[in-house]
Amino acid sequence: NRVNKLHRYSSSVSKYGLQFNEKLMGTGTGAQQEQLVDANHDGKLTFDEIVQVLEFGQSKYNDTREDIVEENMDFYREVYSKKVTEPKFAKLTYNVVYDETGLKRVLTKDEYPRANATLLTLVRNKELKAIVHTIRQIENTWNHNFHYPYTFIGDEEFTQEFKDTVRRHCSGEVHFEIIPPEIWNKPSDIDPEKEKAGIQKLIENGVQYAGLESYHNMCRFNSGWFYRLEGLKKFKWYWRFEPNTDYYCSIDYDIFKFMEDNDKTYGFTISLYDDPLTVETLWPVTLDFVKKNPQYVHPNGAFRWLTDSVQNPEYTKLANGYSTCHFWSNFEIANMDFYRGEAYSRWFDALEAAGGFYYERWGDAPVHSVGVALFEDKSKIHWFRDIGYHHSPYKSIPNSDKCTAPEDSGYFAPEDVHRQNCLPNWIKYEMTHKELQQY
Ligand code: GDP
Ligand code: MN
Repeated sequence: NRVNKLHRYSSSVSKYGLQFNEKLMGTGTGAQQEQLVDANHDGKLTFDEIVQVLEFGQSKYNDTREDIVEENMDFYREVYSKKVTEPKFAKLTYNVVYDETGLKRVLTKDEYPRANATLLTLVRNKELKAIVHTIRQIENTWNHNFHYPYTFIGDEEFTQEFKDTVRRHCSGEVHFEIIPPEIWNKPSDIDPEKEKAGIQKLIENGVQYAGLESYHNMCRFNSGWFYRLEGLKKFKWYWRFEPNTDYYCSIDYDIFKFMEDNDKTYGFTISLYDDPLTVETLWPVTLDFVKKNPQYVHPNGAFRWLTDSVQNPEYTKLANGYSTCHFWSNFEIANMDFYRGEAYSRWFDALEAAGGFYYERWGDAPVHSVGVALFEDKSKIHWFRDIGYHHSPYKSIPNSDKCTAPEDSGYFAPEDVHRQNCLPNWIKYEMTHKELQQY
């Protein structure tokens, strides 16, 4: 029965043209994991079977395969070649009303009923120009329609110049929020000796930002603290943006209401592999938590994406069973009530106790991603195929008339980093046929 389900799933997805053959799906014991995971499209796995799947990445390693990177990139380009417009089979809200005569009228900032949401960025005074660069694009492509508020978060007071300048570019209300030092700074229970040894190892292996304490603070803050700030408690939804990122496509519908009305928890544009040395013990600590707290695992989690070992088997090995696949969090749209909920909160406490934000360099992207992929229904995770996005060196460029340079759709990054692309796995392993047809 499970094998049958697997076949039905594979053949529907292969309507895209590419067959998901053995090479792409993995072989040997992989077939077992495949069956378990695909059977799980109906949420039928027992907890023991889920643990088998989650531990799978630890048991199977191949050599690095350039041909798989290439095949996955071909698949990626094929998917991106499809012309996209707005999401289908979804409720979409626009900023217009029609009067009795059928005449269209654009709602003003005061009239439009916004969702409980904020655009949000953690940023420094010295990044003023770079953040304005991005605000202008968010306004031009989207927020001029809706005038959502912005929240600028800093670990130091913003200068008057910073405040005045960003205010001039934002069409919505503007809030500034300073992080209390007891939240931002390294907790006192971090063992200095252990930290020194851990950081030393990362530095020797050339891990970016390993020796920069503020970067560790930033990752920890973005992982489990921003949504607890006084100024953020009143909001449910956030759209995170970063200095010097680009937005390529006009979006006419209200993205926050899309999330709310279509029962989504988390939205992303780019999915990548991570440097496994930064998250060496994230998976073991997580599996330990999961085994002690089976009730939090969602039966329809994105288990296969989390434990893939086909494209970058050496990553999965170094990360002790975690594929390192994550949603790139410098763009993300999500429901903060998910993080505030029991599952994520208790798991985050376990992460804090393990100290990996300082002994290693756990990033907020893998932490959000593992959390949402384990504890939430994967059908609530939305790939925004219509949002064109760039944060160096990666791009997502939709083939859409609403985007600049649709002829570049399918471009991802310079070739030497193609193997960092995990979106093909997300599409193949976790998306249903209907989700693929949504655009
Ligand atoms: P990368 O994208 O991982 O290379 O890291 P970034 O330098 O872009 O940092 C990620 C985000 O955190 C950006 O929005 C930065 O502005 C912000 N950020 C990083 N370090 C700090 C810091 O020490 N203080 C503040 N306030 N923001 C920071
Ligand atoms: Mn950045």
